[in-house]
Amino acid sequence: MARRRKRRLKKKFKVILIFFFIILLLGGVIIFMRLNKNPNNTKHPVQKNKQEEKDKKEETTKKVNTEEQLKAAPNNSTELKTLGDGEYKTTKGYKIKIENGIARVEDNIIVNKTYSLPKDFKPENPSTKVDKDWAIEMIDADAMKAFQEMQSDAKSIGLNIYISSGYRGYSSQERLYNNYVAQDGKEAADTYSARPGHSEHQSGLCFDLNSVNDSFTNTNEGKWINDHAHLYGFIIRFPKGKEKETGYQYESWHLRFVNKDLAKKLYNNGNWISLEEYYGLSSIY
Ligand SMILES: [Zn+2]
Repeated sequence: MARRRKRRLKKKFKVILIFFFIILLLGGVIIFMRLNKNPNNTKHPVQKNKQEEKDKKEETTKKVNTEEQLKAAPNNSTELKTLGDGEYKTTKGYKIKIENGIARVEDNIIVNKTYSLPKDFKPENPSTKVDKDWAIEMIDADAMKAFQEMQSDAKSIGLNIYISSGYRGYSSQERLYNNYVAQDGKEAADTYSARPGHSEHQSGLCFDLNSVNDSFTNTNEGKWINDHAHLYGFIIRFPKGKEKETGYQYESWHLRFVNKDLAKKLYNNGNWISLEEYYGLSSIY
């Protein structure tokens, strides 16, 4: 009798255990289904964070890998034409991205002898509608705003600064360059005038001030510009003694709009660094 009772008890215990196990399983299934219903809560927070960390890690590795795989930036415009659109690494380790024929480093458009603009390129953010091929007011809206601020500060100390040449389209640059070539020959013209498509003026991000020649350099305006333009986000695009890097003669009157941070770095306490030198870019036809 005692054995029978024991067996029965064992049987009962087994049934309870199985029953308990089924309830546990059902509960688990219900919780799992509920969690899956809420898209924001598919994973336990800790698990989610871990996944995010993993994604981040993978992203960083990807970045490093692509950077390592980047080809060297083109050395001249012919090489660039062969390579075409893509991402390249400059000699200073910056990434230069060429998209639809437009080159950018850190969101700054690069235009020089190596990097040109497409023939139909127009300023991306003009202060007024670009409906002419040559105009002062069609430059970039932010560049215009910064210029006006600079002009007003200069005026307050008795200096007269004005834009003489702003936006220039491809055709206008072509006419201008051809005139210089007819006048001085191609080799000389290439030291001070850009070939069509290679002029920064087509980008709308630059302008020439006042007399547009060397006489500007030693005027009070010229000296003030050299020491203050960076405070408004402008750089002396073709600094003195940097002809080999920029590909152009010194131009105290040609200002390029970048941003205050970069302008301050390039100002370099008065010893201007060229954009080519800073980013590690070539400027060769
Ligand atoms: Zn210019």
